[in-house]
Amino acid sequence: TVADRPTVVVDAHGLPYLDRRLPVRRRVADLLGRMTLTEKIGQMTQAERAAVVDDPGAVARWQLGSLLSGGGSTPASNTPAAWVEMVNGFQDQALGTRLQIPLIYGIDAVHGHGNVYGATVFPHNVGLGATRDPALVERVGRATAAEVRATGIPWNFAPCLCVSRDERWGRSYESFGEDPALVVSMETVVDGLQGRLGDADRVLATAKHYAGDGDTRYDEAVAAANEGRPWWEQKYPIDQGVTVTDRERFARLDLAPYAPAVRRHRVGSVMPSFSSVDWTSDGLGNPTKMHANPDLITGQLKGRLGFDGFVITDWEGIHQIPDPADPTNGGLTAHKVRVGVNAGSDMFMEPNTAEQFEQLLLAEVTAGRVATTRIDDAVRRILTKKFELGLFEHPYASAGNVDQVGSAAHRAIGREAVAKSQVLLKNSGNVLPLPADASLYVAGRTADDLGNQAGGWTITWQGVSGDAIPGTSVLDGIREVAPHAKVTYSADASAPTGDAQVGVVVVGETPYAEGYGDVGGPECGWCTTPQQEEKSLRLRPGDRAVVDRVCAALPTCVVLVVSGRPQVLTDQLDEIDALVASWLPGSEGAGVADVLFGRRPFTGRLPVSWPRSEAQVPINVGDADYRPLFPFGWGLRTHPGRAGLAADRPQVRAALGAVGRNADGSLRDAPTVLPRLGRELRAGQRDDALVEAILGVVRDAAQATVVRGAAPADWATSIAEADRAQLTGDPVRAFTLLARVVR
Ligand code: BGC
Repeated sequence: TVADRPTVVVDAHGLPYLDRRLPVRRRVADLLGRMTLTEKIGQMTQAERAAVVDDPGAVARWQLGSLLSGGGSTPASNTPAAWVEMVNGFQDQALGTRLQIPLIYGIDAVHGHGNVYGATVFPHNVGLGATRDPALVERVGRATAAEVRATGIPWNFAPCLCVSRDERWGRSYESFGEDPALVVSMETVVDGLQGRLGDADRVLATAKHYAGDGDTRYDEAVAAANEGRPWWEQKYPIDQGVTVTDRERFARLDLAPYAPAVRRHRVGSVMPSFSSVDWTSDGLGNPTKMHANPDLITGQLKGRLGFDGFVITDWEGIHQIPDPADPTNGGLTAHKVRVGVNAGSDMFMEPNTAEQFEQLLLAEVTAGRVATTRIDDAVRRILTKKFELGLFEHPYASAGNVDQVGSAAHRAIGREAVAKSQVLLKNSGNVLPLPADASLYVAGRTADDLGNQAGGWTITWQGVSGDAIPGTSVLDGIREVAPHAKVTYSADASAPTGDAQVGVVVVGETPYAEGYGDVGGPECGWCTTPQQEEKSLRLRPGDRAVVDRVCAALPTCVVLVVSGRPQVLTDQLDEIDALVASWLPGSEGAGVADVLFGRRPFTGRLPVSWPRSEAQVPINVGDADYRPLFPFGWGLRTHPGRAGLAADRPQVRAALGAVGRNADGSLRDAPTVLPRLGRELRAGQRDDALVEAILGVVRDAAQATVVRGAAPADWATSIAEADRAQLTGDPVRAFTLLARVVR
């Protein structure tokens, strides 16, 4: 137990670096001055838990600075207490070394601490992007940090600041959205995670994957060109491939999230991307891998952006650096180590090759091919964060905080986030919200499947369908929120009962992580090749059939799509009365029921464009010929009279109190009301609540016009650009764009 363990005593040896009263800078300088080259290289090395867990001497023998748990690498009994015990055990070894430098343990808690059984699993980032609520996202970050820290872990490989430009990417759900301004607005999550670094319930955050990870190009030409290329480019051209762009666009789109992450939110670590940008060249005929790119890591990130944290490579990231001496790119070589270290990464994620990495780096430094100043820079950065985190004073986790994991308070934040992430795409006849005493036929294999709700990076790397985590499924939530509703449930909708009034069908994707994502699966009737199977964004045949059956049998049908990305369902849209994008809500399915029954209003807006057809993909706000099924920023609201109006604010009441609105959100007297609202907005454009309220009313009216079929042809561009204008702090332009659509 923690009580049995010695704590590191301040001034243990009268050494300055152990004196907490001294400034971090001095402590780092003192410690660095005492370290041997081997010890320094050890600090730069991170191994995977599985590589050391059965070898109690390894952490000390290799002088490791860090360990990680890759997806699913958990202690046998995956309880919070077992994690604390395990991490403390590794820490014992680190503190047994000559200089007693504590380990920093890292993990992917990318939607809450989904690794641990019983944790609160929050919506994946795509859902958080839909909330458009930076303050809520900061609270999600804070709750995540508390749960991660309660299991003894001070470092999180999150958030992904990817700007996802292609839904075929198997990580698109890790992105807050397709527009950089939306991603930037959600960086409050870093504040929530890190807080004041050193607080016992916060963690070090990681901005990843630097940069352009969501913007790689994939098409048939790329696939053909990849024939004969290294295995990862053939397998994952979209995940770990090449961003084809020019410098101006790269800066505007892919780099944009990093300046505020570094300068405003002071993110403590950054992880390079597996991808490359096409204008770079490694001299061997390949675009330079980001892990090998000194201009972008050292020049741009550490130099121009002034990043003072440390760079952690991705999983065997430097193994992908091409080496003429290793044509099959089979493993780690001196060349890869040298190029990777000299490009500017500071710590190296070498899950199973830590010792080899250390030996190779030692030889490169000894031969003068890696400068000792580069090593000192890396170690200084790593030690600085360890000191700032307070690891020297508090290296051990206490088992006393394990009740933070999955606490009622955190689940309440999760439930709120789920409700605010739901995007109402269609609501014919205002069938939503449902009456509390509705008679429901609930169907679809995901209606009662917490694993599908949580998606990838949950318990295992790829995630698992079924009863994977504790929480509430959508079906549980419906039963809880509407105890007086009459509910019949059938996963496959074999015989829809005609006596129910409303069908609620929950369909979507099964969990996946990275690559393309497993979209087709064994049911994929139309797929002829494995590649096609992986790339399809259509609903599975089984899901389509359930939608058809329920919508044909019942007077009203509501379809919820639980998925990491839009699903193409244009041909079924007419038969569906209400359509909801639920994203990957995580453990708190009750939040979905909250909006279905009107306990909370629908307020979510699309963080990505919803394509009309697979042929349209990739489709993004700003495209020249932009005709998605639903544009970026689209989202109907229920209770249009109340939703988001901050009606308790006198300024808002004064501006909107007298505005007459119909149930569908259209304005009663648009020609008079719009100019007046425009004037109010101009006068009050610094008041965020007022801006949100006025733009909300005009957006409702614009969307009602679209639904009526009366909008101008370019309505999708107007609505999407209005959202971008609002995100970039130009509410007047947003208003003008939305008002153009209103008829
Ligand atoms: C992913 C990273 C992740 C790392 C450690 C890699 O496969 O690309 O995002 O942080 O694994 O689990």
